Amino acid sequence: MTPDIKACKICGAEARLVGDKQGKYRRQPFNLYQCRNCGFAFIGNPWLDYEDIYSQAYYRGQGADPLVDYVFELEHPEATVRQYEWRGILEAIRSFVPLQQQTRWLDFGCGNGGLVRYCRSNAGCSIWGYEHGWIRDVAANSGIPFLSDEELRSAKGSFDIVTAIEVLEHLSNPLEQLKQIRSLLRPGGLFFFTTGNLAPQREDPLSWSYLVPEIHIGFYEPKTLEKALQETGFRAAFHGFSPGFEDIIRFKILKSLRFRRKSAWQAVLPWGTLTRMADSRFGVTAHPIGWAE
Ligand SMILES: [Zn+2]
Repeated sequence: MTPDIKACKICGAEARLVGDKQGKYRRQPFNLYQCRNCGFAFIGNPWLDYEDIYSQAYYRGQGADPLVDYVFELEHPEATVRQYEWRGILEAIRSFVPLQQQTRWLDFGCGNGGLVRYCRSNAGCSIWGYEHGWIRDVAANSGIPFLSDEELRSAKGSFDIVTAIEVLEHLSNPLEQLKQIRSLLRPGGLFFFTTGNLAPQREDPLSWSYLVPEIHIGFYEPKTLEKALQETGFRAAFHGFSPGFEDIIRFKILKSLRFRRKSAWQAVLPWGTLTRMADSRFGVTAHPIGWAE
């Protein structure tokens, strides 16, 4: 293969070099490849030094993603706009599966564990987080339950729900990780995730603000995820604008406008209309969920 063609990491077809995206944090060109067969796009020369990327500075919003501020969220769970996302995810999950005391839920790539903590108080089921790096130890010290790699291995096939919120875009080998997630679920279990939707940006991916190439290295269309899920032991299902997505998108709007705190004026905005407008532009709800087969 010539340097401007690589094998697609999802379907194996030829992915062509679209062009370079200059990193703003790590100042170097990152090569973006796009597969016209399944729609997947990926950084061909990703920065994989995870210790450097996911450092204390990253989680404080001083690293590769200035919109991240996990430390603030961890210390101010009642004040952060992230609470809308937690509430929305819980509502979405409840619309797909009943939550009972014996329900087992794993939040895979849980960052500071904020969703885990929120759901321990509000979901009425058992939930744990899984994460690596600096933030894991900080959050674990504040009492959020995390599973170790060893505990995860011995919990295979035991979860009713696995969530991965804004995780898939960070993965250099998505099929391998989806297989791992599938192995954690019992047959019939639910895999719920969020990640950017490349489809509206298909013709001009390099101008997409979500393309922060130091950290976001894989980009999916709904059909990409349908294929990836089928390849890894899931049945993909398209749910549309299901309950909870108004809150999930509300959070995304506020975050992209760089609001960290909830405030009274936010409550009077017509979120039903605003979130549907944003959804028709960005296709947030067009992605599927996965049912473990
Ligand atoms: Zn492909």
